[in-house]
Amino acid sequence: MEMGNLVAKVIVDVPAKDTDRTFDYLIPESMRPWIEPGSRVAVPFGKRTVQAFVISVVPAEEPPKYRMRAIQELLDLVPPLSPDLVELGKWISERYACNQIMALQVMIPTALKGKAERYISIAQQHEFTDHLPAADVLNYGSEADTHRAMQPDMRGEPEWALLTDDGMSDPAERQIVSFIQEKEQVPLQQLSRRFPEEAEIIKSLLRRGVLQESQVIKDKLGKKTMKAVDLAIGIEEASAALEQFSAKAQRQREVLAFLLERSEFLPLPLKEVMTSLSVSAATVKALEDKGYAVLEDVEVFRDPYRGRNFKPTKPLPLTEEQQYVYERIIRQLDTREQGAYLLHGVTGSGKTEIYLQTIQRCIEQNRQAIVLVPEIALTPQMVERFKGRFGDQVAVMHSRLSGGERYDEWRKIREGRVKVAIGARSAVFAPFRELGLIIMDEEHETSYKQEETPKYHARDVAVRRAHQHGAVVILGSATPSLESYYAARSQSNDEFAPLLLEMPTRALGNSLPEVHIMDMREELRAGNRSMFSRALHNGIAERLERKEQTVLLLNRRGHSTFVMCRSCGYVAGCPHCDISLTYHQRSNNLRCHYCGYSEPVPQVCPECGSEHIRYFGTGTQRVEEELAKLFPGIRVVRMDVDTTTEKNAHEKLLKQFRDKKADVLLGTQMVAKGLDFPDVTLVGVITADSALNLPDFRAAEKTFQLLTQVAGRAGRHQLPGEVFVQTYTPEHYSVIHASRHDYGSFVREELKHRRNLHYPPYCRLILVTFSHEQLPVLVRLAENYSATLQGRARQRGWFGNMDRLTSDVLDILGPVASPISRIKNRYRFQCMIKWRGNIDAIGLAQQVADEMAESAQAQKLLISLDVDPQMLM
Ligand code: ADP
Ligand code: ZN
Ligand code: ZN
Repeated sequence: MEMGNLVAKVIVDVPAKDTDRTFDYLIPESMRPWIEPGSRVAVPFGKRTVQAFVISVVPAEEPPKYRMRAIQELLDLVPPLSPDLVELGKWISERYACNQIMALQVMIPTALKGKAERYISIAQQHEFTDHLPAADVLNYGSEADTHRAMQPDMRGEPEWALLTDDGMSDPAERQIVSFIQEKEQVPLQQLSRRFPEEAEIIKSLLRRGVLQESQVIKDKLGKKTMKAVDLAIGIEEASAALEQFSAKAQRQREVLAFLLERSEFLPLPLKEVMTSLSVSAATVKALEDKGYAVLEDVEVFRDPYRGRNFKPTKPLPLTEEQQYVYERIIRQLDTREQGAYLLHGVTGSGKTEIYLQTIQRCIEQNRQAIVLVPEIALTPQMVERFKGRFGDQVAVMHSRLSGGERYDEWRKIREGRVKVAIGARSAVFAPFRELGLIIMDEEHETSYKQEETPKYHARDVAVRRAHQHGAVVILGSATPSLESYYAARSQSNDEFAPLLLEMPTRALGNSLPEVHIMDMREELRAGNRSMFSRALHNGIAERLERKEQTVLLLNRRGHSTFVMCRSCGYVAGCPHCDISLTYHQRSNNLRCHYCGYSEPVPQVCPECGSEHIRYFGTGTQRVEEELAKLFPGIRVVRMDVDTTTEKNAHEKLLKQFRDKKADVLLGTQMVAKGLDFPDVTLVGVITADSALNLPDFRAAEKTFQLLTQVAGRAGRHQLPGEVFVQTYTPEHYSVIHASRHDYGSFVREELKHRRNLHYPPYCRLILVTFSHEQLPVLVRLAENYSATLQGRARQRGWFGNMDRLTSDVLDILGPVASPISRIKNRYRFQCMIKWRGNIDAIGLAQQVADEMAESAQAQKLLISLDVDPQMLM
């Protein structure tokens, strides 16, 4: 019986409102066995060829309602997405109010974000012929032929018929045509480069239908291959052939013998053959010409950790605390049902050992595990702990890998050759088939929220994936986010309510370090104008004497190095964005962190002409200078955005410090995590409270987290540690509780504030940002949005005031100017939506935004939604 046609419903790679739905394409016969939900294909879309993802496959309607176009090309034999990831994409698009294509794109490596490229080839009817009349070689491609990688962008009738003869009397024309013929197809760009003067001729050839244009989806980079040598004949035949080499061809004979000797390892890398036998490539090639060997391209996997040895480790016998936690988790794991745990354990309580042993169990069940780590904590030591336990079964994904390395690590996961994926935020999408466990270390880190579209939070995505797979989620932290802690404590029945597990003591039994609060106001009163308190100063001096090490942390949030005139107060700002320019010492220029604008450092003030213009702010550079002045000869390793842009810079700097080539490690937040050095006995925080005054309701929480993290770094080993925290607000509860390592008290106090001021976890937020080139238009539209949303919410019976003790509430604040009120010449306003209860606030906020974007008067207005925002500045 003949099968009916099949249709693929696809999401096209055209990120726009109108195209945010599925489109139907016929599946050509030849592609049928290959197309499934998650496949990536090329489809004709308008006059273009675009990349698309297959969402589902359905039988075609018979008879067809309209002439449907066919899929043009299948881009991968193994679909890059699985059906569960396709479903997850849908969920993300709804949960975070973004286009489906954005949600799907974020799950695959950038290497696979194919873009259409234009190619020029000889029109079929002109192939291999200069002289035959065109009609003789007339050859219409059949529909089923769509499978071919190259497909002409057929617009209307081919114009070949207009040709009377071969039409190529011009030598330049012939030259171009034969150039293309030889290469089959040439990217348009390459052709223009090769024949820069001949644009008119190329155009004419295209117009006459001699040449044709096609579009192909090209990935940013392909698989890495290497030349390898294999036997072209059977082993016995090859052995017999050894006798037949002439005296002159003894080198070739050696190569053949070598291949035979290693036949179980074939194909062998060409390089290896050449170096082992000191033969040239030509010798191997000669063997190929004789038909004995064959040279081929084989795929290799780029392994960023190749050549590095990881010391194998064995599971440690667990402490009593660990044992209890471990058993709770594996009991859930064994049920193969979804579960979530919030593992609150002080720094050094041995959370990592719990991760390792639960992963072990997961692997034994033949399932896979994902370990999420904040980007900056993804240090070689961190990776080593996992590679040391699970060796080659671990894939690592982080942004410092090259595009190719990332792609290869990702393929190892998709192809099932590893069991554990460790990586930053986006590793939550690791395409494992049977996930058993998702671990999120340092779950409170804001970097788990992506700040660009799709603005997803990896924690929520992890919980969702666990739900799909019947997997267990472990959220680990010494300072859990208030959202997670509150959800665990109240055991509300929202989708995410983890069970709380606590580990209050350190695994090695050593105590947490002593924390001294230094009141900097007092220092000033005592006449100390330096950035170091007397105690910290003495502490550093002592460490230098005892040859121990110091870590100094500068809380950079709230600081910037900007250029200011001391005479008139002029501050150099970006002409396009409403922020001050940041000074970069290396390039000695000023740069805008939003739009990239840069200019040289002014020598005199542009406002008043004064020469007293210089850079300000307590940047790490200034601390470094001060250290050099106070402690001549001190060796400082500075780690900040400026010194860590190079690949592996982090690692090099840390190694320098670990090898004791420096006395002080100085840096921003980066130094607070992932460090574990035995000789660090002093930690100093230069300005603990610089973030406290920021207009962000999480300011206290972030300060507490940072101080606790830093304090946990000192004295992790034999030597006792000391911590000095310098602050201008020593009475602030976040400073006091952090100095006492008292998470519980901090949380109680902080929750009180949050409840009174109606902030998460007592409600949820949606930040709506509007931007437009004209300020009055922008303000009017933003006000319009706010009023419309409020009205609709009322219609639905949602209360508009957070103070009401009802469950379904939506309140909208603003519009107000955004903290950065202009970026790239566009003004910015924002509204904050606060909501709680079982209502579809996200859907409504999105719907009103869509309606506005469609109306003619709102042209050029950009509206972006940030659901559960982390950055409020
Ligand atoms: P956390 O991740 O909670 O900060 P770690 O896993 O880094 O803590 O553990 C701190 C230290 O304690 C490490 O040096 C680790 O090797 C050690 N450790 C953890 N568990 C045990 C155990 N059961 N027995 C002995 N040492 C342990
Ligand atoms: Zn001035
Ligand atoms: Zn700018």
